[in-house]
Amino acid sequence: MNIHEYQAKGLLRAAGVPVSDGRIVLRAEEAKAAAGELDGPLWVVKAQIHAGGRGKGSFKEASAGEKGGVRLAKSVAEAEEMTKQMLGRTLVTHQTGPAGKQVNRIYIEDGSDIERELYLALLVDRQTSRVSFVVSTEGGMDIEEVAASTPEKILSFSVDPATGIQGFHGRRVAFALGLEGKQVKQCVDLVGKLYRFFIEKDAEMVEINPLIVTDKGDLKCLDAKMGFDSNALYRQSDILALRDETEEDAKELAASKYDLNYIALDGEIGCMVNGAGLAMATMDIIKLYGSEPANFLDVGGGATKEKVTEAFKIITSDPNVKGILVNIFGGIMRCDIIAEGVIAAVKEVGLQVPLVVRLEGTNVEKGKEIIEASGLNVIAADNLSDAAEKIVKAVKG
Ligand code: GDP
Ligand code: MG
Repeated sequence: MNIHEYQAKGLLRAAGVPVSDGRIVLRAEEAKAAAGELDGPLWVVKAQIHAGGRGKGSFKEASAGEKGGVRLAKSVAEAEEMTKQMLGRTLVTHQTGPAGKQVNRIYIEDGSDIERELYLALLVDRQTSRVSFVVSTEGGMDIEEVAASTPEKILSFSVDPATGIQGFHGRRVAFALGLEGKQVKQCVDLVGKLYRFFIEKDAEMVEINPLIVTDKGDLKCLDAKMGFDSNALYRQSDILALRDETEEDAKELAASKYDLNYIALDGEIGCMVNGAGLAMATMDIIKLYGSEPANFLDVGGGATKEKVTEAFKIITSDPNVKGILVNIFGGIMRCDIIAEGVIAAVKEVGLQVPLVVRLEGTNVEKGKEIIEASGLNVIAADNLSDAAEKIVKAVKG
């Protein structure tokens, strides 16, 4: 689960990490008072969306003005004007995709004078199964670009969980960032606090870009992006409380309410499968036959008819879906339950696209009977390869 920058900064502040003072604004009328509570002479007006690259982003509407989603204001009036321009508009960045994201919250921050912009991130490294630091002197800009063209400018190392974070980790970061004097001590302190925060809150990713050296020579976190392990949210109620459902894919949100493992993708064939491995194989074979999956969906082992109905509804609500492939290997999951769920869903939402169903395993005959008796226009398939070939053919014509 991801959270907004201003929420992340609230958490950092509570952990004793240096961030600027700021105010969150939900309605344009609040902007003047919010900006007035900050000292100036510089204000930063920041669109809050769950995506990076806001500074270089652009708005879909001309009324939002020319500049990106992070703007510098020289007066309270200017900060108010910028807030009015951005609120409710759609910001497109390299991370939002072409559809962009609507800006419903604006964070007004006390502006900082920047001496240097650095990069610091913590993430779970799958290769080492440890928490890793990623550090670079090239902060502020696109770190993916730095990684691609000048990888030698990025330092990465992991922390041994047995010993935890140590002073030398912080000094290693400070050295890599070319810090000096009091900054080294500040860096050791920062690195320790970020690591302990990361572990304590079950974070998956904490990215500070830029981490800055101010004109006074102090370290400060000017941007913060955070993601948390969804499987750990049951024990992180303060983090869960920060969830902004409007930022989530509506289909993924609906799926999470029914405990379905669903990930929206860009393709045209909706998939309903049981078991993550079979779901992956189904996506692969759809690609093999020349099409692309519209989603990953594992309905799980013990799915009920209601759950299957909901899954089917989520798939059909995706306008990109030009065909649906139901691929069930019934073990714990019974084929007749799947068949009933599919039929119930089709009765409720209709079926505008071709549907291929491949059932195998427990109660397969019963499942097939139910589908046949329903009179639905279903294309039956005998095995995975046959099913994929048939749905791609039906979609491509
Ligand atoms: P992002 O574009 O979504 O990553 O948003 P950031 O919060 O990183 O802001 C983008 C850029 O705006 C930063 O890299 C800075 O160069 C600039 N910026 C942000 N806050 C301040 C500030 O307080 N003072 C100044 N001078 N620039 C800022
Ligand atoms: Mg940034």
